[in-house]
Amino acid sequence: MGCATCGKPLSAVNQSGYCRKHFGALNSERTSEQSRRQWANPEYRLKHIGAMRRLGQHRIAWCPLEYREDYRILKRVKHYSAAQAREMIEARIAADLRRYELTGQLQRTVA
Ligand SMILES: [Zn+2]
Repeated sequence: MGCATCGKPLSAVNQSGYCRKHFGALNSERTSEQSRRQWANPEYRLKHIGAMRRLGQHRIAWCPLEYREDYRILKRVKHYSAAQAREMIEARIAADLRRYELTGQLQRTVA
């Protein structure tokens, strides 16, 4: 017997009736259908948007707007932990402030 979607032969121990790829696709379809249904509920949506906003603002409130992009890059592109990225940004802010005191010019250090 093969995968119910593509007919690819399955191993004897397969229990899902789908190959790995289509079993995954089936699951993600179910999950997105479920979240679509949840998001269609205004109460659920409000609650979760509120929670996400609070969390987002709280977690990044320490970081000046000008540095948020750098912070995001450190985390998402360079994969530093939140604590490491914060330390680096804070060091950068301190360095920029020192330079400002010396030169009177506020220049952001470029990563
Ligand atoms: Zn398949």
